[in-house]
Amino acid sequence: MDSKYEAVIGLEVHAQLLTESKIFCGCSTRFGNAPNSNVCPICLGHPGVLPVLNKKVVEFISLMGMATNCTINEKSTFARKNYFYPDLPKGYQISQFDQPICEHGFVNIQFPDKSTKKIGITRIHMEEDAGKSIHDQSFETLVDVNRCGVPLMEIVSEPDLRTGTEAYLYLSIIKQLVQYLGICDGNMEEGSLRCDANISVRLKGETKLGTKTEVKNMNSFRNVEKAISYEIERQIDIIEDGGTIVQQTLLWDADLNEIRPMRSKEEAHDYRYFPEPDLLPVLVDENWKNEISANLPELPDVRRKRFIENFKLPEYNADILTQSKSTADYYENVIKVTNDYKSASNWVMVDVLKILNDKKIDITEFQISSKNLGKLINLINEGTISGKIAKDVFANMLEEDKSPEEIVKEKNLLQISDTSEIEKIIEEILSKNQSQVQEYIDGKEKVFGFFVGQVMRETKGKANPKIVNDFLRKKLDGLKVN
Ligand SMILES: [Zn+2]
Repeated sequence: MDSKYEAVIGLEVHAQLLTESKIFCGCSTRFGNAPNSNVCPICLGHPGVLPVLNKKVVEFISLMGMATNCTINEKSTFARKNYFYPDLPKGYQISQFDQPICEHGFVNIQFPDKSTKKIGITRIHMEEDAGKSIHDQSFETLVDVNRCGVPLMEIVSEPDLRTGTEAYLYLSIIKQLVQYLGICDGNMEEGSLRCDANISVRLKGETKLGTKTEVKNMNSFRNVEKAISYEIERQIDIIEDGGTIVQQTLLWDADLNEIRPMRSKEEAHDYRYFPEPDLLPVLVDENWKNEISANLPELPDVRRKRFIENFKLPEYNADILTQSKSTADYYENVIKVTNDYKSASNWVMVDVLKILNDKKIDITEFQISSKNLGKLINLINEGTISGKIAKDVFANMLEEDKSPEEIVKEKNLLQISDTSEIEKIIEEILSKNQSQVQEYIDGKEKVFGFFVGQVMRETKGKANPKIVNDFLRKKLDGLKVN
């Protein structure tokens, strides 16, 4: 970015809440059911029906408000947001307007160099989702209204973000929190977490905001970062060429890596809000607030600190392990089986996460149970198998659902700790490699590794490395003296 300029970015994040039923009726929120089957007169907006608020929605959103340092307003109200859209049979969406349930919060984002920045949260409110228009399965546009009335939480940030990377970090925190709270699965690719960005640029030092554009359709974390960086550059180029920014809604095209204006057909929402006459104000009194906060789970920051203090993990390990709740849970289950906290953290961070990355799966779908990984670590520490063999056993466990003990037994992988057997092998190797022995005697320390390698090859990696090292050293240094 041209350093004369700075960007001002605010994010609106929509999160689909994991309630069983919809926000104002008893219909299922299940994804993937037959189109237009999860519906009733209420979510279809038939005349004369009355919505009833789902209590869970209030509790979920209050939890998010508490986790993001918001004030939970004792009284909040609903409003109708009127607009026409084919997938909105009611002709309006029930949302919150001037009296949202949560306000004035913040989260801290952390940069790779550990410095942090506070990002304000203007408000968090509840609303219902609209249906879905499907354009790619027929010549006509198809409409599925199953999603009508699915509860949404909208989180609006202050315009405190300055770069695409900051937006990415902020979004990561939001995702982490909703997952820890268990209120949304946080899956951006599947649309349960959606994000729109308001972006403007101005000269550094300027206090007035520039004209903003709104960027939509960024359906992955990386796309949010890319789209925002792209839009910032685009606006700066226009200003540098003497042009002016037009306020408009833009769509990110992830295939072409570019931004295009929404067709006017897609846009032109002229929102009119008015108070929802069918719903009473929502009252969250002290008692209810206390009940809700009693259900607040351990949040990422606290868990991270506990990992550092209780398990003596380096900060870096604790960071990575607590990034997602499911990974932290898995790790804590591993160390129920082994008390080697450090090794367990390395196995999870390096070996497990690598496979999750390669296979693009979540740790909850990982083939090796936390119990079996714990047992594997114990087998190494007890000297039953070497660290090298453990990697093979790990690979085997990925293929078949067996305990490490079973695999070690079946494949005859027990570590050779019998000193006389190892001594015999070492003697053979030394006599077969006289020239390397001479090099060692002449002071070429590096050949030591060569001998270790030979012993390991001969024993297919099963020799106890400590015994091999000690014996080799003794033997070779003995030769040196003579
Ligand atoms: Zn319904």
